[in-house]
Amino acid sequence: MSDYRLLIGGELLEGDDTLEVINPALGEAFVTVPRASARQADAAIAAAKSAFPGWAATTLEARRAHLLRLADAIAQDADRLARILTQEQGKPLAEAQGEVAWTEGYLRHYATLELPDRVIQDDASGYIAVKHKPLGVVVGIIAWNFPLLVACWKIGPAVLAGNAIVLKPAPTTPVSALALGALCRDIFPAGVVNIITDANDLGAHLTAHPDVAKIGFTGSTATGKRIAASSADTLKRVTLELGGNDPAIVLEDVDIRETAQAIFNGAFLNAGQVCLAIKRAYVHQAIYDAMCAELARLAEEAIVDDGLKQGTQIGPIQNKAQFEKVQGFLEAAKRDGKVIAGGAAMERAGYFIRPTIVRDVRDGDQIVDEEQFGPVLPVIPFSDVEEVIARANASDYGLGGSVWSSDVEKAADIAARIESGQVWVNQHIAIGPHIPMAGFKNSGLGVEQASEGLAEYTQLQVINVKR
Ligand code: NAD
Repeated sequence: MSDYRLLIGGELLEGDDTLEVINPALGEAFVTVPRASARQADAAIAAAKSAFPGWAATTLEARRAHLLRLADAIAQDADRLARILTQEQGKPLAEAQGEVAWTEGYLRHYATLELPDRVIQDDASGYIAVKHKPLGVVVGIIAWNFPLLVACWKIGPAVLAGNAIVLKPAPTTPVSALALGALCRDIFPAGVVNIITDANDLGAHLTAHPDVAKIGFTGSTATGKRIAASSADTLKRVTLELGGNDPAIVLEDVDIRETAQAIFNGAFLNAGQVCLAIKRAYVHQAIYDAMCAELARLAEEAIVDDGLKQGTQIGPIQNKAQFEKVQGFLEAAKRDGKVIAGGAAMERAGYFIRPTIVRDVRDGDQIVDEEQFGPVLPVIPFSDVEEVIARANASDYGLGGSVWSSDVEKAADIAARIESGQVWVNQHIAIGPHIPMAGFKNSGLGVEQASEGLAEYTQLQVINVKR
């Protein structure tokens, strides 16, 4: 058993059970961590419930200071946290270091956010003010692609707004969350931040719990819908950041080399396991062959290996179930189109798939219509802009999207017609704590980040005084 512990009510505790964590680069367990029972999940909610009134009564300034202390602690522990991330998640160490730095930066930005009262009227006849009140106990449930960053996307705004939180990481990436818990223990009052783990069996229990006021969720659309259903009974507030099938529309006037590199980066960051990754590239017929060839070259040249090895650019798929799912997509892609780079799992231990470029696929093919969440990019030709906008929008998802052109104005006009929460021009996955992040359609409900995201961790209250 490792040194990792659950954080419940300010105490670092053993679990009622244990959980083996697989290193996806090796395909074997590298650490055993505590696994919480339903009893311990209830204890975490009870601890948050009893910590809430005291925490809600603190000043915003005091809560900001706690977030900054957490940011400092993360910065001090950055090397260890990055190695943990690479071992449990698979991403190259440089990207893991980037995730740790981002996490610190997001927390520092949250600490600058305001929750001001809005005074609607203040005159001889009366005073009306709109206030933001904390909600109570928040449950944060997250996926396995950015385990440290997304944990803090929940913890930061929740506690800044005056709530107490129970965070549950994905069962395949619990280690960085537990390491975060140990840091939080020395910073927050007991019960304000609680971190528990599971074997994919406590999510429904947490989301149905009557003492929980709000769920902040990042994960698949299917689970998001289950959460919305289970929170209906007690009318919990929910923020759902779900799946996506981001289109990139590449017009004929781009610089092919430069754009291919940017598209490649946007599609294969974190081995394609990014909610906002480019998941289908629509390329104008006039440059289709050249762009496919350039993307294939980049895919062939990419160094795919254990993220701990110097020089690795793309790591493994995070878990076995996803590895098998992506292989299913590869089979369908081979049937429907032409694989011009990659196309198979690597003959080695671990869950490695070489970056794959598939051309000559069409809308309606599985690799185009569904979210692959892995290192496989379909490239689809188009010749008419109106038609490609309609094709990009013919999806149940609407998370992100991008338009690529040397005519920025024209691209921005096309971008405004894409039905997605964020649409970029000549870039992709450009996000930050100061930029609201939301999904259209089945990609989500509500907003994260910026003041809009913070407001979702509060309840509006109107104070209306007659003078
Ligand atoms: P998932 O929905 O299977 O799991 C996510 C989390 O939900 C895990 O912690 C899991 O234990 C928990 N969970 C499972 N069943 C539950 C239930 N019934 N009630 C409550 N919680 C439950 O998702 P995944 O496969 O781990 O992640 C991949 C998906 O997440 C992709 O679709 C991806 O696009 C999406 N994602 C979205 C964002 C975003 O911000 N929009 C970010 C990362 C990932």
